[in-house]
Amino acid sequence: MIGGMTERPTAQPTAETASADAKQRDKPVSSFAKSMFAGALPDELVFPFPALSRDESRTVHELISSAHEFLDAEYDPWQVERDRWVGDDIIAGLGERGLLGLYVSEEYGGKGLSQTGYCRVMEEFGGYDATLSVVMGVHQSIGMKPIHMFGDDDQKARFLPDLAAGRKLAAFGLTEPNAGSDAYHVESYAEQQADGSFVLNGEKRWIGNGGKDVVTVFAKCENGHVALILEKGMDGFEAPHRFDTLGLLGNDLRKLTFNNVRVPKENVLGEPGEGFRIAMSTLNNGRMSLGTGVVGGTKVLLKQAIEYTNNREQFGMPLAEFELVEDKIGWMVSYLYGLESLAYLTTGLVDAGVDDYSLESAMSKVSATEFNWYAVNRVFQLMGGTAYMADSPIAKTLRDTRIFPIFEGANDVLRAFVALSGMKVVAEEFEDLRKINLADPIRSIGTIAEFVRGRVTRTLRPAQLETAHPELSEQAGAVAGQTKQLRAAVERLLREHGKDVQLKQRQQKRIADAACDIYAQVATISRTTALFEDQGVAASGQEAFIATSFCDRAAHRVTGQFRLIESNDDEQMHSISRLAYRHGGYGPKLH
Ligand SMILES: Cc1cc2nc3c(=O)[nH]c(=O)nc-3n(C[C@H](O)[C@H](O)[C@H](O)COP(=O)(O)OP(=O)(O)OC[C@H]3O[C@@H](n4cnc5c(N)ncnc54)[C@H](O)[C@@H]3O)c2cc1C
Repeated sequence: MIGGMTERPTAQPTAETASADAKQRDKPVSSFAKSMFAGALPDELVFPFPALSRDESRTVHELISSAHEFLDAEYDPWQVERDRWVGDDIIAGLGERGLLGLYVSEEYGGKGLSQTGYCRVMEEFGGYDATLSVVMGVHQSIGMKPIHMFGDDDQKARFLPDLAAGRKLAAFGLTEPNAGSDAYHVESYAEQQADGSFVLNGEKRWIGNGGKDVVTVFAKCENGHVALILEKGMDGFEAPHRFDTLGLLGNDLRKLTFNNVRVPKENVLGEPGEGFRIAMSTLNNGRMSLGTGVVGGTKVLLKQAIEYTNNREQFGMPLAEFELVEDKIGWMVSYLYGLESLAYLTTGLVDAGVDDYSLESAMSKVSATEFNWYAVNRVFQLMGGTAYMADSPIAKTLRDTRIFPIFEGANDVLRAFVALSGMKVVAEEFEDLRKINLADPIRSIGTIAEFVRGRVTRTLRPAQLETAHPELSEQAGAVAGQTKQLRAAVERLLREHGKDVQLKQRQQKRIADAACDIYAQVATISRTTALFEDQGVAASGQEAFIATSFCDRAAHRVTGQFRLIESNDDEQMHSISRLAYRHGGYGPKLH
């Protein structure tokens, strides 16, 4: 039996089914997270924990040192706020040092780093300054990424060398006034001409690097969506308005307008009709550097908190000595270890050539950005009134980072995406549930799920992390149990709600949060296993301690989610919120 709550009859294996099962086992698994929803934990995808080759590791360290040497001398985050731009000299300097073409192949003047190498460098920028990391991230993670992933040889040769060298900057143009999270329903329209060119009309808003050089724009076309490479100076293409924002003040955030812009055939990315898939694949890939970037940012926050609370004395002793201060620091360290493991396990999946990492990258983005926001809030609290002064670094961090859980996929939308994609895997497994066609678009969430669905090889292996180090057998056993419960909980929800499960977002959130925490435990166990094997258990005491405490807390949260799936006050919350909608506010009065 694989499931937990609803036992289903299992057929006795015959010689035929046994051989089919063996064949299934031999096939590569297309997605770890989707397999997890199916109740399996394919060890081969997550062990050994990915590591950079010695050569790439050296390159990454050289790039990081070179960035620090340059930026420590030249970059002033406060000046950037006053100038409202990171500075052309900074961009040129980063370009000369190879920091703007990190994953671009050497053939086009880049550094040819793997996804892990790229994200490792972006982690460092995340700790340096959020604005700089966002400008670099927009340029590399989503701006030129579609050209790198989907461009033909001619497009790569025309655009990548200038972009990798920082002579030009790239942007990603998806969001519109009426299409934010619901990006499938963009209204910009591109009409194909007889010669294969497109004429584009419409507008975009909130596009980072929007006033710079090259923008991949996504528009509706006759047979779906099309991705078009726009270049500054094209007739009818303007970036007329620069937005003022709460934070990230040096990010060139623009409105873009297209008035009969003729985009030549050579600038059409991929096939017309493929545009939405290109946009979603770019975001799936790009989200990972946001995950590692905020890990870098949170490491710096932790240092700031330790320094401040050690130096500030109240009630006759340093703040750091109080238990509730200690608690926040311990929480940050343990969570950082888990989320760092999750982030790099995910980049490793990409480097290993795993087909489908859409759920893992969404989980990395949601978990890391949410943790980061809580961490910012807690460190802000620890710094008291000092934090609230306009010139305090933590005040700037607070302004800069609040957008992270919103952009590159709002976290609640990504949670729904993770849960629905997982539910689809389970639904397809049962004859009677298959008719719940979760691939039907429920506006864009369902549509996204449809575009990125991957093959999951079903295995009859039990959910077990067989490769985990014996010292971690307790944690590995707990993960196995949670995985079975996850599958059972999803099956139960599908049976209870049928197609309406698509509307049950409270339950989806619990499923998604449980899945994130299970995946984070897997990552932590894999990383710590590698450490034990490399350095021995005795020498890794500190990490073992942190890893097990992260896993134990995560397991506790997962159990809480499953409990809430079973028993909750969703109906009351539904009624209370509807009452509030009717009142247009609070409602009850004091008599
Ligand atoms: C600083 C900044 C930089 C940006 N850079 C870029 C860029 O470079 N390129 C680009 O294309 N875009 C960019 N954006 C746009 C960004 O991606 C969007 O803001 C984001 O996609 C969310 O869209 P929205 O703001 O319109 O929110 P909405 O879609 O209106 O959603 C608002 C909130 O409603 C909730 N919500 C929405 N849908 C659902 C749902 N189905 N279920 C439950 N809850 C839901 C979520 O809590 C969400 O946060 C940027 C935005 C900012 C502010």
